Amino acid sequence: MFLQIYKTFSAAAIELFNACLLLIVYHVCLINYLCNSNLYLSMGKVAINIATGSLQTEETIVGIDLGTTNSLIAIVRQDSRQPIALRETDGLTLVPSIVHFDKEGNITVGSAARELLVQEPERTIYSVKRLMGKSYKDVSSHADFFAYKVIDDNTDTLVKIQVGEKFYSPIELSSFILKELKHRAEHILKMPISKAVITVPAYFNDAQRQATRDAGRLAGLDVLRIVNEPTAASLAYGLGLKANEEKTIAVYDLGGGTFDISVLKITNGIFEVLSTNGDTYLGGDDMDRALAAHWQLQMNISDDELKQNKSLTQQLRVTAEEAKKHLSNNDIFEADINGRKVSITKPEFNKLVQPLVDRTITSCKNALRDAGLKKEQIDAIVMVGGSTRVPLVKESIRDFFGKELFDQLNPDEVVALGAAVQADILAGNNTEMLLLDVTPLSLGIETMGGLMDVLIPRNSKIPNKAGRQYTTQKDGQSGMRISVYQGERDLVQDNRKLAEFSLAGIPGMPAGLPKVEVSFLIDADGILKVSAKELRSGIQQSIEVKPQYGLTDEEVEKMLLDSLTHAKDDMQTRALVEAITEAEQMLDVTEKFLAKHREELAEEEVNTTLGSMQMLREAIYIKDKDRVQHATEALNDVSRPYAERVMDAALKDAMKGKKVI
Ligand code: AMP
Repeated sequence: MFLQIYKTFSAAAIELFNACLLLIVYHVCLINYLCNSNLYLSMGKVAINIATGSLQTEETIVGIDLGTTNSLIAIVRQDSRQPIALRETDGLTLVPSIVHFDKEGNITVGSAARELLVQEPERTIYSVKRLMGKSYKDVSSHADFFAYKVIDDNTDTLVKIQVGEKFYSPIELSSFILKELKHRAEHILKMPISKAVITVPAYFNDAQRQATRDAGRLAGLDVLRIVNEPTAASLAYGLGLKANEEKTIAVYDLGGGTFDISVLKITNGIFEVLSTNGDTYLGGDDMDRALAAHWQLQMNISDDELKQNKSLTQQLRVTAEEAKKHLSNNDIFEADINGRKVSITKPEFNKLVQPLVDRTITSCKNALRDAGLKKEQIDAIVMVGGSTRVPLVKESIRDFFGKELFDQLNPDEVVALGAAVQADILAGNNTEMLLLDVTPLSLGIETMGGLMDVLIPRNSKIPNKAGRQYTTQKDGQSGMRISVYQGERDLVQDNRKLAEFSLAGIPGMPAGLPKVEVSFLIDADGILKVSAKELRSGIQQSIEVKPQYGLTDEEVEKMLLDSLTHAKDDMQTRALVEAITEAEQMLDVTEKFLAKHREELAEEEVNTTLGSMQMLREAIYIKDKDRVQHATEALNDVSRPYAERVMDAALKDAMKGKKVI
């Protein structure tokens, strides 16, 4: 049986004396250490010195923006030292993140696959990024969004997508997109490409980051670093590249189907995510839909007619997108749909999309509130995503923050350009900078009473290493269950379980004696490795945390918010749990002591002890922290004199006939 692990705070320090005589000497001892060290990581034949960020290799490392709608690849040009997006002979940099499977199993990725979206919806997979690291449960509320078949097994295991007879994981599907990007880069650069930096949203959790990394590996890429998209966008503008630079940045990312706002703090090259907010189902596609609906009404087309006529639906949608793009640089748009003239002016379009833009501003306000900042405290606003080209979006954001925007770079390319800058730093070409990311949520393990014991706090720099010693709670306990959690709440039940493993085979020892060191190591990609070692016997066990299922973006935000709203409750609960844990430990050892040494105690001592024990049990029952603490102290006061007397007598016994020098 594996018992709950017991943290050594205020634990009874139990001395082994003669035949394991139990003596009660209470200490408050917290044995922990935290060490941040420079690591030297080896990856295949390439070595990265994390301390300097340099990497000994001649090969070009590419930066990849693996997007929900489009993906692209960028490098830093060695001559100009400028990042550029790689352009095929067709002049395009964007590769639609769409994968099509024909009946023979041939795979097409990109624009050619997009052409088949309407014709073969069940064989054409889009928006796979929304499914990365998620279970069906996580995405079930948005299942209608996907025209292809997402397997509904309603379990916690990762989702699968069915195409014909075959099943694919989001990791495999993403790997097809990455493979296409790799081939493109090799074709354009005329050299093999095997190393990359890939970007992910700041709110991606460990499961989603791990899934992205695995997709890279499947595509034959060594993923040297997973970088947050807002971090990359800032880097593309050179923000955070100067030594001693301190800035607070808002990165506003409005794409085709998603909206993210991230508030970052840059201090000497360290990017800290202060808050993230957004809407995973809000973007340029909603503007297209708003305009299409407007025309539908003008043209008197009923919903039923539209449902029947797929080609008309498609034509409306495509023309609406065309109009939106046209209006970014013109004042009026005119076209012909099904032989009928349609038109829209810029003011009319603005009126249609104003509610959508307003929703993004509400998210900006929420992000600022979560970061504890006023909008005047934001030093720079970086614009990302194709939909930030809409003039109304730019004007509204400029007005809201009261500052000029960083919007000169192509908003579709800016994240990939920043990934290329990061890749260049890893390649050792920018010797000044070491870029570090931070953990989005705290990481820790479950201790007695279901408490969360944080080993690596939220917003810690990565790579990171932390360790702490724990001990057993019961005599002869031979195993410990190590449960790893992510989150900000004091009770693990309110946080998210990442993994669990057991350390078995601890040799029989009295409670409190084994020393189990639990270590957390987060590598440069944010992947967590947890190990546990019993120091007296040397037995150990470790696990790489590959969580079974992910959190929705809303859940990550909610977890952070909950930790703020419940902070007071959590503190009180923690104090109560700690007091009860200590009290139960005290009751346990006192009971054992009485059982073993009852004859050596006076009748009155036994009775007072039993009375104090009863008081303590009652205090535990009514869950009153102060009463629990007082009753624990009272029991300690009652038992200490005779415990010391018995120990002295045992010592004398043991020393009989021996000379003391
Ligand atoms: P992303 O997801 O960042 O690739 O952004 C794609 C979105 O940007 C789509 O909704 C496009 O319609 C939109 N978009 C691209 N170009 C423009 C433009 N010139 N004006 C307005 N929206 C655009």
